[in-house]
Amino acid sequence: MAGKTSEVEALLERYPDKRLPYGAAAEVAREVGVSRQLVFTVANRLGYERESRAPVRKCRQCNRSTRVQTGICARCSPRKPQYIEVKCAGCDVMVRRLKSALNSQRASRGYTGKIFHSRECAAAYYKGVPLAERSAN
Ligand SMILES: [Zn+2]
Ligand SMILES: [Zn+2]
Repeated sequence: MAGKTSEVEALLERYPDKRLPYGAAAEVAREVGVSRQLVFTVANRLGYERESRAPVRKCRQCNRSTRVQTGICARCSPRKPQYIEVKCAGCDVMVRRLKSALNSQRASRGYTGKIFHSRECAAAYYKGVPLAERSAN
């Protein structure tokens, strides 16, 4: 491992102002074939500063500095659950579903690929279709 460490040290000399830009550690890690953690450890020992994860921006709403790349700072955009809209399989109603719920639904075995806006709509759609065939497609 000692050899790798000195390789890391050598590559770190690319950054003579002792600042590791965003992504640099990952790059060095890849080139040397070590973990990023080791690069950080070596960099720390040599007194390098780690540059923030992402460039700073100004929030479009409050003008505060933010690293959130959407341009809206965390304060202005509290973490919201992500919804996506899908069309009900039985009619044209748009159904708003939690994206994560939909994803886990997709991963489950009984997933039919159909989303209904209501139980009634599903019942109407499946009327006459035997249970066994419901998850066939
Ligand atoms: Zn803001
Ligand atoms: Zn419907």
